[in-house]
Amino acid sequence: MSKEPEPEGKADESKDPETDPNDLSPADVKIILLGDSAVGKTKLVERFLMDEYNPQQLSTYALTMFRKNLDIDGKNVKVDIWDTAGQERFNKMHPAYYHRAHACILCFDVTRKATYQHLGAWYDEMRDACENIPCILVANKIDIDYQVTKKNFKFASSKNIPFYFVSAADGTNVVKVFRAAVESALDYKDNSGDFMNEAYKLLDDA
Ligand code: GDP
Ligand code: MG
Repeated sequence: MSKEPEPEGKADESKDPETDPNDLSPADVKIILLGDSAVGKTKLVERFLMDEYNPQQLSTYALTMFRKNLDIDGKNVKVDIWDTAGQERFNKMHPAYYHRAHACILCFDVTRKATYQHLGAWYDEMRDACENIPCILVANKIDIDYQVTKKNFKFASSKNIPFYFVSAADGTNVVKVFRAAVESALDYKDNSGDFMNEAYKLLDDA
């Protein structure tokens, strides 16, 4: 049986590797977002992925995972970013959300104190599932009042994790935070002595 010749020069045009829904190969790293409802998690992801901000878009309920290829030190890294899809309203995430995550971006909203007060609960739940993954704290919506960046938020130093002021609305530090998360996720994957991570690495290499 003879094979049909492939149409030349067409193969890749219709396929964007970043959004191809048929690409089910495992990502190199999985990044998760955590924090109360409406702190801006989905908007941060959208800002990072598209560099455009559309306050009307109600993507929270429709999307849960995004794939992005990133160039880190000349290497192509396949990144999966998991967004909560509204589940955080029930103050608890499904264990699958944490499963094999390599880094976490924990978010609060500088205009709502309660979202800061709830960080501890999110952090503890995350640590129960992922003992050692790197975590970055972000204070979102600083565009509403930049004075807030003068305030001292002690949560990050109390947990010894990095902290950034961000704005999904104007883009402040958004790319920086996601790149930092991916870089620390890669470090974690390569260097951690985490038992489960080591076991997964062996399985992946087999
Ligand atoms: P999520 O529930 O954490 O995913 O929050 P969303 O991303 O859905 O955002 C909740 C609301 O906050 C929406 O109305 C967004 O338009 C708004 N929002 C998100 N990020 C920012 C920001 O950086 N600045 C401002 N001013 N509004 C934001
Ligand atoms: Mg959301």
